[in-house]
Amino acid sequence: MVTTKELTDELIAYCDKIGIDIVGFTDVTNFGKFNKENRPDSYLSNSKTVIVIGFHLYDIILDAWNKDEDKGKSSHFADLILLDQCHRIKNFLAKKSFKSKIIPYKPGLYLKDAAALAGIGPIGKNNLLITKTFGSQVRLRSLVTDAELSYGVPIQESEYCKDCNICVNSCPAGALEGGKYNKDLCCNYCLKNLKPLSKNTVIWCNICIESCPIGKK
Ligand code: SF4
Ligand code: SF4
Repeated sequence: MVTTKELTDELIAYCDKIGIDIVGFTDVTNFGKFNKENRPDSYLSNSKTVIVIGFHLYDIILDAWNKDEDKGKSSHFADLILLDQCHRIKNFLAKKSFKSKIIPYKPGLYLKDAAALAGIGPIGKNNLLITKTFGSQVRLRSLVTDAELSYGVPIQESEYCKDCNICVNSCPAGALEGGKYNKDLCCNYCLKNLKPLSKNTVIWCNICIESCPIGKK
């Protein structure tokens, strides 16, 4: 029988093979502090591990939202790629007789928290995950599985932000001031300042992503 470490190594190698930029694992018991609908066991009973994957938004166009007015449906380009990658992980684990469930975005898990719990990186003053390699230029998605995997070490604080305030000073809405993210200020600003790429496609204000120097070469 395959050990936890062997299975983890195999899965990491598989993720690398199919082009997943970031992957991490955390114990489902870490989610007890969240509301029931934001806990892994609401999506899969007897679950053991939350798998978090990240896609590097290497080009701003990958963070665009497209709305099909006729169907009333919105889609996000990077999400479509992440969803495909989640299905591949699910199939990989199914072949080894493990059950998995792809977590929907809503209500879903708190993805940034899940990534920090998986040891991928901290949540910064920009209220976003910060990864060593890609900074905050990542989009996340998660699965839950009944496979036990090797867990990352949770990260509580952002060492990157100690002597930095760039994102706070760059936010045009003042939504990051005082060490707390103000969602209303952020959303009001973003909705009034959508950047159109075409008739149906827009990009939100990404200043807090773009301004963070971490991961920029
Ligand atoms: S998205 Fe724009 S408005 Fe919202 S917190 Fe980031 S910089 Fe501020
Ligand atoms: S810009 Fe500076 S303060 Fe803001 S998240 Fe990045 S490292 Fe932290």
